[in-house]
Amino acid sequence: MSDVQNNDSWQDDASRDLMSLGGRLALLERGEGSHVWDVDGNRYLDFLGGIAVNSLGHAHPVFVETVSRQAATLSHVSNYFATPQQLELAARLKQLAGTGESGRVFLANSGTEANETAIKLARLHDADGLIVSLDGAFHGRSTGALALTPKPAYQDPFRPLMPGVKSIAPTIEALEQLFAGGERIAALVVEPIQGEAGVLPLPDGYLARARELTTTHGALLILDEVQTGMGRTGHWFAFQAEGIVPDAITLAKGIAAGFPLGALVTFGAASELFYPGTHNSTFGGNPLASAVANAVIQEIQDRDLLANVTTRGAQLRAGVEGLPLVADTRGAGLLIGIRLTAPLAAEVRAAAHERGLIVNAPTADAIRIAPAYTIGNAEVAEFLDLFGQALAAVSSAHPNQETPE
Ligand SMILES: *Cc1c(COP(=O)(O)O)cnc(C)c1O
Repeated sequence: MSDVQNNDSWQDDASRDLMSLGGRLALLERGEGSHVWDVDGNRYLDFLGGIAVNSLGHAHPVFVETVSRQAATLSHVSNYFATPQQLELAARLKQLAGTGESGRVFLANSGTEANETAIKLARLHDADGLIVSLDGAFHGRSTGALALTPKPAYQDPFRPLMPGVKSIAPTIEALEQLFAGGERIAALVVEPIQGEAGVLPLPDGYLARARELTTTHGALLILDEVQTGMGRTGHWFAFQAEGIVPDAITLAKGIAAGFPLGALVTFGAASELFYPGTHNSTFGGNPLASAVANAVIQEIQDRDLLANVTTRGAQLRAGVEGLPLVADTRGAGLLIGIRLTAPLAAEVRAAAHERGLIVNAPTADAIRIAPAYTIGNAEVAEFLDLFGQALAAVSSAHPNQETPE
């Protein structure tokens, strides 16, 4: 191992030893609350939160205490056995999602694995129907989830992809055309807000219409709530703001605040599709991950953090509107897309990083923030200061980009 503390040789180490899949921005060593520090002691305000994962921030006492206690008690047993932690989590997820008695929970290790499980659910429901996703979607990088992620740069090197899928534009018109077309549809898989597409919400009324049409045509409505779920939007799940009940949701990212865990939650008849031998996962639902998720959910409830998510989200969006280069904001709760007046998001991200602020640029003209649910006035003020500085710097380097189109 080389000495990474005193120089930038870690960049060389990363290039030589890690799979070549893209650059890494800093060598981070430690975190506390909404801040992280790199090995040189530089401090960053983390408003990306590990891509909407660190819902309680870094090194939260509840997280630390739960991991330590459960690791010292029981961390893994395989799915030949149940554990109290796993049963408690399944019951909590059913209750939060409002599945009633008939709901079922499958515990996995990531969002992608939860989505692979959802794809198998759709196949069990109707082996001959199409699984339909939306243009701009992101459902994961494994081969099944990739087939539902219609982005040429992600898909093209890996053709042929899983058959029996197609994608449509994210509009109500395209949805109606799909179901009017007479093709057999097994399932419609959608994100309530497309995170990787730049925090793009579905059109108003989309989920209600999707529920009507899938029900009429006997297709499953599966919501990928990997990014939007577990409180990120100010509701436990984004669908709960839309007055609909899906057939299944997939979860991961914030569910255990940084401990790897994914889940598929089914509603009603969709709960009867899997049967013994059709699916499983060695690590999925282990007592360590489950205990952390239980503690995270309890902490969100005890501190009324969903209310804080809504309040701080509104505060951040109000503060961002009117800053240089900002066209508008979109999203819900603490999943916020900031649309710029010009395709300068990569530059803004870099300028923010130089000033000690972590955000990301999912598209050329959008900045995404997904900070911890625990942020308060101090973090909001620090963000607006650093982000405003970054925008001003990029704006003055591009003097003709001020006018929204
Ligand atoms: C991040 C994400 C995934 C993939 O989850 P992983 O945990 O990276 O496998 C799937 N769907 C959505 C909507 C996501 O945001």
